[in-house]
Amino acid sequence: MKLTVIGTGYVGLVSGVCFTLNGNHVICVDKDEEKIKKLSQMESPIYEPGIEALIEMNLREGRLSFSSDLHESVRRSDIVILAVGTPSLPGGEADLRYIEGAATEIAQAMEGYKIIMTKSTVPVGTNEKIRKIIASHTNHPFDIVSAPEFLREGSAIQDTLHPDRIVIGLDNPELEPAMRQLHQGFTENVFVTDIRSAEMIKYASNAFLATKISFINEIANICEKVGADVTKVAEGMGMDRRIGSTFLQAGIGYGGSCFPKDTNALIQIAGNVDYEFKLLKSVVEVNKDQRFMIISKLHESLGNLRGAVIGIWGLAFKPNTDDVREAPAREIVESLVAEGATVKLYDPIAVENFRQQYDHPQLRWCGLPEEAAEGSDAVCLLTDWSVFKDIDLHKLAESMRRQVLIDGRNVYSKEQIEGTGFEYHSVGRPQMG
Ligand code: NAD
Repeated sequence: MKLTVIGTGYVGLVSGVCFTLNGNHVICVDKDEEKIKKLSQMESPIYEPGIEALIEMNLREGRLSFSSDLHESVRRSDIVILAVGTPSLPGGEADLRYIEGAATEIAQAMEGYKIIMTKSTVPVGTNEKIRKIIASHTNHPFDIVSAPEFLREGSAIQDTLHPDRIVIGLDNPELEPAMRQLHQGFTENVFVTDIRSAEMIKYASNAFLATKISFINEIANICEKVGADVTKVAEGMGMDRRIGSTFLQAGIGYGGSCFPKDTNALIQIAGNVDYEFKLLKSVVEVNKDQRFMIISKLHESLGNLRGAVIGIWGLAFKPNTDDVREAPAREIVESLVAEGATVKLYDPIAVENFRQQYDHPQLRWCGLPEEAAEGSDAVCLLTDWSVFKDIDLHKLAESMRRQVLIDGRNVYSKEQIEGTGFEYHSVGRPQMG
């Protein structure tokens, strides 16, 4: 099949590239000409393990191309996939301006029948809006499909090629074979439902995962006070198949471009129909507070932070991505700056993205984790990049002014900490070191 994917962000680029692997021809379109230029030179504008090799292979074999000409690309395609951003508006609801803009452009380009498939995360009823927008600009026939995306940054290619399930929302049952063919070879688990339910499945899934994270973080906070170890608690809980072991890692809370915006959007979606989603409101609140546990622990160890030097390890919202959208690191660093600390920052790949969002004279940018620690009063680990796991903690302690290590992701074991001289704080585990 011939596809156009609109938006070459984390979802559009990865999906576009993966759809070439099961025999489709894909044009990835973006209005950001810089991105298209880079991609045409086989350079990925996002960090995602494995993506550049796949781009190169598929460009060379002629199954993949990049364009900023949406009209021409739509004209040449059977299926048009919407993968544009749906960020949060200040009130929390999803900003649909990119969806609406792209829908209008698709309609204006149509010269025959198209299937319009939405991968972007959109509130219930949005695909109906898309239908109305397109119908108001063209007389050509078309169908609408909701195919929400569940990939995770950092493992996006694997997640796309081997998803747990593919959700397809449609109202024309004749489309089902085409949708199954489009995803052929990815999984047999294609769940076909109506459009509104498909839209809701995406929000409900993200809200549920966010709930698991806030739940275990609250359990961690209680564990600290009662002398239990949250990692053992989570392990014991996770052995129960009704609970499952994933998303039970206590830490400084979730961030990223999906959970924060999608939980807020679902609260709004419920609010719009006069339903107060009390549970999800608490999940969001717990998550907002959890990151500041880093600051409280620094106060406990160092007292006033004016004049302190603090090393920060990890700026991305999770490992294996350069995405810093809604990363807990941002608010933590801002608080440290506000309290008068000098902050030395290190991340294996997200430094540039972070610096573009936030810079300050009290910040020092470091090229190695050891450099961020050297001469510091404390190091705070905020993202569990694997590089931090193998650091020589004995040497590190010697290079620091004071030996305080705040581990926001429970990376180190008791054995690794013992004998290093570090005053070590983690999340929901008994004091060690
Ligand atoms: P992104 O911001 O990284 O990329 C969106 C791209 O769309 C940008 O490059 C932008 O220039 C382009 N764009 C916007 N309007 C356009 C237009 N009219 N024509 C051409 N290009 C246009 O977004 P993302 O992170 O890939 O997310 C896309 C959607 O997928 C969102 O709704 C998001 O919630 C959802 N989602 C994201 C993830 C994730 O991990 N990032 C996972 C699942 C679902």
